Amino acid sequence: MDHIQRFIFDDTNVRGELVKADDTCLDIINRHGYPDVVNRQLSEMLAAVALLTATIKLDGVLTLEVKGNGPVSLLMAESNPGHGDNGQRLRAIARFAEDQPLPDEGATLRALVGEGHIVMTLDPHEGQRYQGIVALEADSLAQCLESYFERSEQLPSRLWLSASKEHAAGLMLQKLPEDDSLTDEDAWPRLNMLADTLKSEELLELPAREVLVRLFHEEQIRVFEPDQIGFGCTCSRERFASALHQLGAEELRSVVKEQGELSTTCHFCNTDYVFTAADIEALIESPDAPSPTLH
Ligand SMILES: [Zn+2]
Repeated sequence: MDHIQRFIFDDTNVRGELVKADDTCLDIINRHGYPDVVNRQLSEMLAAVALLTATIKLDGVLTLEVKGNGPVSLLMAESNPGHGDNGQRLRAIARFAEDQPLPDEGATLRALVGEGHIVMTLDPHEGQRYQGIVALEADSLAQCLESYFERSEQLPSRLWLSASKEHAAGLMLQKLPEDDSLTDEDAWPRLNMLADTLKSEELLELPAREVLVRLFHEEQIRVFEPDQIGFGCTCSRERFASALHQLGAEELRSVVKEQGELSTTCHFCNTDYVFTAADIEALIESPDAPSPTLH
């Protein structure tokens, strides 16, 4: 099981999160069969979504979308709260023209998506839905998100994201509002400088604790119990049934007449949901279904 690790530095206003998302990303990638260049960017997005969700302690859905006019028109990663203590559940999807060549594996996010923008949507269980947008002006997702935090006057934040075929990981540092009781004034630039020495391979291959020790062994760092993260999709047979319901009896019966049954696939997790002719009749006749005779 993958984990996300929260930490703070004593006597400073700096906190951070470190996520290792190897299994989560592989689980998601294996469901889709996208090219490696797409998988790598999608994995970085998943690491970013996990970090952002944990940092703002969101109890709700966080969605990150990168949209543009390039070979890949959409990359989307989403975090949903798990049940009970079950941490974040992540899922992701990409859209691209299958008949067009994609850039090489090392391509930047901007080379892949072209001119476009990043949309971050926070949908808390309680309270207002919030959406932030930033132009896709930098080459990497981390740089774009950093400039988003800067421009939207959010708390100063830095991100280090990395993904390979087998690994995906991310580190985030955030500076909380000034507090006069804190004496360590140069903590933010100093901790950033230390984090900037982190090599991509180290972030990807070393265990979380070892990454933190390597970077911050001279700092008073306090590391909390890690939280689990993993793949999870919010689709269900009931959700698809209710969506089918909207189509109306006539449309449903005509599809069943043509195809013998009705099958539909969740684009996030590739689960097939098959409704037999009898299932469809039961759906049409179910109490909350609009009665066909009324139309
Ligand atoms: Zn699904």
